[in-house]
Amino acid sequence: MPDRCDVVVIGAGAAGMMAAARAGQRGRATVLLDHAPEPGRKILISGGGRCNFTHLDASAERFLSENRHFARSALAGYTPRDFLALVERHRIAWHEKTPGQLFCDNSARDIVAMLQAECDAAGVACHWPVSVSVVTVEHGRGTRFRVVTDRGAMACASVVLATGGLAIPKLGATDFALRTARQFGLGIVETAPALVPLTDANADASLAGVSLSARASIGKIGFADGLVFTHRGLSGPAILQISSYWRQDDIMLDLLPGRDAFAALREARSARPRAQAASVLHGLVPARLAAKLAGELALPDVTAGNLPDRVLRVIAQRLSAFVYRPGGTEGYAKAEVMRGGIDTRDLDQKTLEARNVPGLFCVGEAVDVTGWLGGYNFQWAWASGHAAGMAA
Ligand code: FAD
Repeated sequence: MPDRCDVVVIGAGAAGMMAAARAGQRGRATVLLDHAPEPGRKILISGGGRCNFTHLDASAERFLSENRHFARSALAGYTPRDFLALVERHRIAWHEKTPGQLFCDNSARDIVAMLQAECDAAGVACHWPVSVSVVTVEHGRGTRFRVVTDRGAMACASVVLATGGLAIPKLGATDFALRTARQFGLGIVETAPALVPLTDANADASLAGVSLSARASIGKIGFADGLVFTHRGLSGPAILQISSYWRQDDIMLDLLPGRDAFAALREARSARPRAQAASVLHGLVPARLAAKLAGELALPDVTAGNLPDRVLRVIAQRLSAFVYRPGGTEGYAKAEVMRGGIDTRDLDQKTLEARNVPGLFCVGEAVDVTGWLGGYNFQWAWASGHAAGMAA
């Protein structure tokens, strides 16, 4: 490793690789470090191994942050189309899964290889595994920082903190970015696991594996998508999405999204009037859940045709407006991302440079910008990495 350079990027994940490639392309002598034995480990496991690398509609509204407008500038400076153009330039085959959600056809490895090729072409010096212990201020000729590692120290003009968030510690997630930001006086917005399954003490393990479409909402924000019962609570895309907004609130669950539950139950009653009462639920929700709900609701011992509208309204309420009260989440071990992080009020929105620490840049998941499920978190990593790499 050199003992001095222009830019040291700490963390060879999505944001760090992008930042290093951009800085290198601008002719900055750039060193990219990671403590893992290989780069981009989260990219490799993302999207079920196919990496949902962006979402074509990555508007700032699809990100959580204490400053909802902060991400706009970086997202506009490097758009999903820009990343797609890069993917196509590297001849990576891709497909659109749900509208706007783009995945590799073959493997997430293609994305890591592409970023590595970009870094190599830009002359970035890549070193891993390297353990970084601390970044200190050291004013020298053309340098401001000293990055201390287990392979020696480096003086540099700019440092890009790209070590990500706290999700999935077994893949090497650390609090390095948060710790270093704090050390330099930057604020930290409270962090918590996000895009994470929810748990509750009353979870019924016999329902584990049952899945259906549902809408999960808190106040005005809601997501209609898949819901899966787990041994300890609920998961599935609708739950992961709403988990990012969950504090200690109640979550409203609609198990028949987009349908009038009362009308659907009346139809079921007319279709099978001589069947047992619980049969009005069959076909509306999976059988195991139908049986559980029928027990919970203590339906009267009559045929379906004899169920009064009053009872159908109670069932409809249970189906379309169930108040779910989680006890907690599955934590960082199962979370896709961390919410919160380095306070955006302390960063320049165009460059991601710390306002009061010239030369210190913070990018990716470590920053208080958290995307919805669907490719948004990578788009933020690419866009923030690009912005910092163009300025560092
Ligand atoms: P990371 O990609 O986490 O990179 C941080 C890097 O820093 C790592 O290489 C790490 O080894 C290194 N590092 C950490 N600490 C240190 C240290 N002290 N010293 C040196 N190096 C260090 N998002 C999507 O948009 N689409 C998806 O399909 C998707 N799927 C996901 C699936 C899973 C299972 C998970 C966990 C996440 C998924 N995400 C997805 C989220 C996405 O992976 C992250 O938001 C994104 O990787 C964040 O990029 P980053 O560069 O900020 O951090």
